[in-house]
Amino acid sequence: MRKKVVAGNWKMNKNLSEAIQLVSDLRNGLDSFEPNCDVIVCPPFTNLESVNTIIKDSKIHLGAQNFYFKDSGAFTGEISADMLLSVGVEYVIVGHSERRAIFKEDDSVINLKLKQAFTKGLKPILCVGETLEQREGGITKEVIKNQITAALKEIPAENIANMILAYEPIWAIGTGKTATPEQAEEVHKFIRDLISELYNSNVAENLTIQYGGSVKPANAESLLSQPDIDGALVGGACLQADSFIEIIKSA
Ligand code: PEP
Repeated sequence: MRKKVVAGNWKMNKNLSEAIQLVSDLRNGLDSFEPNCDVIVCPPFTNLESVNTIIKDSKIHLGAQNFYFKDSGAFTGEISADMLLSVGVEYVIVGHSERRAIFKEDDSVINLKLKQAFTKGLKPILCVGETLEQREGGITKEVIKNQITAALKEIPAENIANMILAYEPIWAIGTGKTATPEQAEEVHKFIRDLISELYNSNVAENLTIQYGGSVKPANAESLLSQPDIDGALVGGACLQADSFIEIIKSA
């Protein structure tokens, strides 16, 4: 049985004192009920260590938003898997559309990052999604298939149990536009069938596939009640503890 996972991607938001406030509010809010899902927060690098101290022995898991696939060396400005692990990070977002579009990360870099994450014991949250133009051109499934096939190249089945896949239509990220539950479910089902083809049905059935793209308290329940939607990757609505908690309750 798959467990739902709700993750918050803080992006480039929150200085140290704001991060401490947000995660403390979140921890206090979650102490009052038993969430029916796993909860992950992905703050900026500069907040990871402090956030980790605050979430110790709580229901909240720690994720990072990015890392580099090399072990160490002359890579100015980059962060390694070992560095993340040393401050308590368990998950890492890989292939977010903002990394792909703004920082020009291509499928081969994403594949190397996934391999390094698995080697080091970090659990990747692999993001895939189509642009509005691609959706309107009727090639959503082709785009998703290409992204997933390239990202998972040479990655063995046993690693898939240690990752999360997030379907994030780019036209829905930070735009206030959300895929309808039916649109999202159609792609999630397609992804699960693809994983079954690439690996086997057992691997596919056990894979958590999150939806991301303007998830908020008002639409979370209808999205998360779809059979192949196993949680949410939340941007804007995770920056306030109240709205993130409402989404967690919907799961
Ligand atoms: C995201 O950045 O992964 C995301 C889904 O953002 P938002 O919820 O703001 O659309």
